[in-house]
Amino acid sequence: MNYVSTRNKTVSLTASQAIAQGLARDGGLLTPEVFPKITPAMLEDWKGKPYGQRAVAVMKLFLEDFSEEELTGFTQAGYSAEKFDDSRVAPLHTLNDNTHCLELWHGPTSAFKDMALQILPHLLSASLVKNREEKTVCILVATSGDTGKAALEGFKDVDRTKILVFYPKDGVSEVQALQMKTQEGGNVGVCAVHGNFDDAQTGVKILFSDEKLRADLAERGYFLSSANSINWGRILPQLVYYISAYCDLLNAGKIQMGDKVNYCVPTGNFGNILACWYAKQMGLPVGKLICASNSNNVLTEFIDTGVYDKNRPFHTTMSPSMDILVSSNLERLLFALTNQDDQAVAGYMKQLSETGRYEVTDELKARLKEEFFGGFCDEAKTSEVIAKVWKEHNYLIDPHTAVAYQVMEEYRAASGDRTQTVFVSTASPFKFCDSVLTSLGVEEVRPGIEALDQLNQVTGRPAPGPLAALRDKEIRFEEHVDKEQMMDVVLTMLK
Ligand SMILES: *Cc1c(COP(=O)(O)O)cnc(C)c1O
Repeated sequence: MNYVSTRNKTVSLTASQAIAQGLARDGGLLTPEVFPKITPAMLEDWKGKPYGQRAVAVMKLFLEDFSEEELTGFTQAGYSAEKFDDSRVAPLHTLNDNTHCLELWHGPTSAFKDMALQILPHLLSASLVKNREEKTVCILVATSGDTGKAALEGFKDVDRTKILVFYPKDGVSEVQALQMKTQEGGNVGVCAVHGNFDDAQTGVKILFSDEKLRADLAERGYFLSSANSINWGRILPQLVYYISAYCDLLNAGKIQMGDKVNYCVPTGNFGNILACWYAKQMGLPVGKLICASNSNNVLTEFIDTGVYDKNRPFHTTMSPSMDILVSSNLERLLFALTNQDDQAVAGYMKQLSETGRYEVTDELKARLKEEFFGGFCDEAKTSEVIAKVWKEHNYLIDPHTAVAYQVMEEYRAASGDRTQTVFVSTASPFKFCDSVLTSLGVEEVRPGIEALDQLNQVTGRPAPGPLAALRDKEIRFEEHVDKEQMMDVVLTMLK
């Protein structure tokens, strides 16, 4: 199977080349040229298997230059009982007759980024060997919270990799900072940058574009790469849980083979919902794809009108992982919906970078509406939903998940569609204790890590082990620098 660039179809790479390279040289995203088919017989077979084996079976269809044995090793390491606190890995929690929550936060950092970042480092490390790359890769990350910690846990002690994470000193929660400062592993580095997320991100971008640094590091046997969701190795593991959820619904007798299921996904960079759409392209019986946004509702408008316009105010919300105005992975959807018209995609992306706006053709607008429903949920409503779901279903959800729940209900009310629906839960409520406690009506929320105990007391639900264990962990990284000093931090780590 070939991987092509969304901006130039004549680029043709193997899977391991696409993963090692990350982004196409023309700035496009590397994407499979064709999608293999899932048959009912395959689903029948997979439904009897545990999650790890479902993952191997699905990923194997896309990774021709990897052996089944290799992939089995990756999933055994990534989704082990030591890393995931539920042996089902991505369990479904049923709320009522036709509503099910797909919990993607049972991994080491309590957010769904683990589902892919527990696998990507193994895929990347093996891809380097397959392509005779002798240097060690150093992953540089600027993080506003979830991605940095999940990448640290994923790359921790993986061969031929190092990882260095910069986070804004004033831009992450106390729990998030503690998660990173206590990170274990022999190949990891963490450093705070004075300022906000933009400062950290700009600093990392400057490092990536510094030719002299690149040459210095090459001499020392290193090259820089990133772990963000434009890498195919981050999208692929995400296809698996949509297929797995379908198998679980079959096993539970909620559906018969071939019945359609709707999925509702809280969306930021469009990676997670794109994976669901790809599963549909493979033949998974998916009905409507419901795209849920917070007050940063650029995607809601796009699905409604076909106009993508990032020229709008940026809102800081209680679902920060969805505070995004440019959803990078949308480019892959455009490529598919235009029947792989690379020139059209390159044109849209050029307009986006020059004017912050583009409008797709009428034909494409119609295709979008056929496949997707877009909705958004503001801050007040998000709080209300957290309280309502707790009260009505005795089920605790985080703000990102609450956004999904609300948009799912909005879709149902508007359409009358009663199809079995899975809404996706992307973070443990304990990762966002303050917002959850406040939503439940608690007036005095305790500071930092003490809020974990408080949420536990108020709800009787246990905090995930790795979060509860934070208070006993040794602080390993306390360095904080101005953004001009980030280069020194890199050079010191990669001596
Ligand atoms: C990253 C993230 C999202 C958004 O996922 P995308 O793939 O960027 O659309 C939603 N919720 C949480 C908790 C996340 O960490």
